[in-house]
Amino acid sequence: MSEQDIPRTDIGELGEFGLIDHLAGGFKNKRKETIKGIGDDAAVLDYGGQPVVVSTDLLIEGIHFDLMYHPLKHLGYKAVIVNLSDICAMNAIPKQVTVSIAISNRFSVEAIDELYDGIRVACEAYDIDLVGGDTTSSPSGLMISITAIGSNPMEKLAYRSGAKVGDILCVTGDLGSAYLGLQILEREKQVFLANPDMQPELSEKKYLVGRQLKPEARLEAVQYFEKSNLIPTAMIDVSDGLASDLLHICKASGVGAFVEEAQVPIHDEARMQAIEFKLDPITCALSGGEDYELLFTVDPKDLEKVRFMNSVYIIGEITPKEDGVTLHTSGGQIHPVTAQGWKHF
Ligand code: ADP
Ligand code: MG
Repeated sequence: MSEQDIPRTDIGELGEFGLIDHLAGGFKNKRKETIKGIGDDAAVLDYGGQPVVVSTDLLIEGIHFDLMYHPLKHLGYKAVIVNLSDICAMNAIPKQVTVSIAISNRFSVEAIDELYDGIRVACEAYDIDLVGGDTTSSPSGLMISITAIGSNPMEKLAYRSGAKVGDILCVTGDLGSAYLGLQILEREKQVFLANPDMQPELSEKKYLVGRQLKPEARLEAVQYFEKSNLIPTAMIDVSDGLASDLLHICKASGVGAFVEEAQVPIHDEARMQAIEFKLDPITCALSGGEDYELLFTVDPKDLEKVRFMNSVYIIGEITPKEDGVTLHTSGGQIHPVTAQGWKHF
């Protein structure tokens, strides 16, 4: 066979989720302990006793972070948080992490200490043990791979697949801010590169930059669900933007949904910043990423319990699949929601 005859498909043709589906298609779970494999925020394993919930994420310099504006301590913190967020998205309590790093000789011991200071702060704040990992070299950049492990009784776990028609769609906090924080940092980087004497003016942008550099996992929501005896019918964490993550819930649950634009929480500073960048604030909420809020659905009978939750917003409702996934705009129009989350490829 000549070289021209070998089929070659660009990864970009499949996209991130198409590629995952393509790869996962070649595997079938064999073990009775595997309750949930690929396809949710975390896998669920049952060895008798409490189930174990496991999730892993890989962060690559130049793709997920830029050391020009991600201080190493913040990066260590954030790397842990994004994994804890996936455990919380299963309505489970995170308990342990493993941390693997690949580093080049460009990094000093002091630099890696900074990274681990951030990891330690996150472990203390969320009461997590660091129980292992791996350390290796890399040709140039920094890579961090973290696996988080958590648990909760089986009947309390929430999957992407449990949403039912009539369920209420809720989110734990404002959306779009982390994306706008990133745009600010990118802008300041360009200014600095063009003129290294210019110092970035970030003090007025503290909220948005903080949402990008120091996100939190919504463990308090999981604790509230426990205390109030509420189990979301479905849940996901908003890492890729409201649109992409709502579509994941709808696809996994075989339902449609509508979102009321006017109810989507957008911080005042995010709204102003979006306008300054000539962006539509709702587009930032729908397609920006890394907010790490929890997007969840509840049975209407639990509406009162949701109303007592601190910082929770009711943004829409689950509908039959045929109705599609739509945005009801403040101007009274209905638009289909499409995924324009992060495109890595
Ligand atoms: P999240 O955004 O919540 O971290 P992802 O979109 O990264 O979730 O992943 C969706 C699902 O696909 C998860 O179950 C994840 O474990 C699985 N997954 C992602 N990449 C791979 C891979 N290369 N091989 C096997 N499973 C994968
Ligand atoms: Mg997730």
